[in-house]
Amino acid sequence: MKILRTPEAMRSFSDRQRRQGKSIGFVPTMGALHRGHLSLIQRARQENDCTVVSIFVNPLQFGPKEDFNRYPRPAAKDDRLCRQAGVNALYRPTVAAMYPVGYATQVEVRGLSDRLCGRFRPGHFQGVATVVLKLFEAATPDRAYFGEKDFQQLTILRRMATDLNLPVRIVGCPTIREADGLALSSRNAYLGPEERRLAPLLNEALTIGAMLCRKRGMTPARARSAAIRRIQSIPGVRIDYVEVVDPETLSPVRRLQGPMRIAAAIRVGKTRLIDNIAAFCDD
Ligand code: AMP
Repeated sequence: MKILRTPEAMRSFSDRQRRQGKSIGFVPTMGALHRGHLSLIQRARQENDCTVVSIFVNPLQFGPKEDFNRYPRPAAKDDRLCRQAGVNALYRPTVAAMYPVGYATQVEVRGLSDRLCGRFRPGHFQGVATVVLKLFEAATPDRAYFGEKDFQQLTILRRMATDLNLPVRIVGCPTIREADGLALSSRNAYLGPEERRLAPLLNEALTIGAMLCRKRGMTPARARSAAIRRIQSIPGVRIDYVEVVDPETLSPVRRLQGPMRIAAAIRVGKTRLIDNIAAFCDD
């Protein structure tokens, strides 16, 4: 496995692969790899000749009071997991290589970025879109793999790829969960034992909401309220949002119809957890 530390080194690796006629599958991550990340890597391996993973904790997408400094960075373990998973190149740029002194450009996908998590994390999705465009420019993938776990991110990146005519297929992959329903996340490591016990509540509440969305005579407001009530039944858990949205525009649906997404963010102690699931109504 090659380890690459600068955009130039990444780009010349990718150019070499392409000259050999190889297709490139790319999995951008912030590291602290878990089975969710590994499922994306496996899919990339199945569909491409060469698999590139990036690990970069991107300062641009963290707010001033967020967890950039304490975000887990188990570099040696991540290396080993990538090797074991059959990754061909690990792109691990430094902050200085990504954002040298004088760096000034940001990408904004308007509208989509202000909804859901965007309301609580101003600037977050600009940071995400910017870093992903820069990573694409260096890795020049044919296909890039993102988890549905971060559904808003996936939707925004699809929009960016379309709007900027990027020659990359954005592939969405299903959320990998623990046996009790909690979506795998690097941030789950922050949860204390009691918080970890409560955390599956989020998926439970969304499942209740999605089930109600199928029911005849139901409204989005009532499905949403049922999910909210379930979360509020646990003291000490705070809600950022619970919404039933259109999966493309991410705007709240007015009536239950066709494919929808029910998405939520809650705070358990100091840890912010997000999750979302598909909801469908064929009325
Ligand atoms: P992160 O390292 O958290 O930035 O995530 C890197 C990629 O892995 C993103 O595309 C995430 O959506 C995806 N991912 C994170 N957790 C999961 C999960 N539980 N299941 C599937 N994909 C995930």
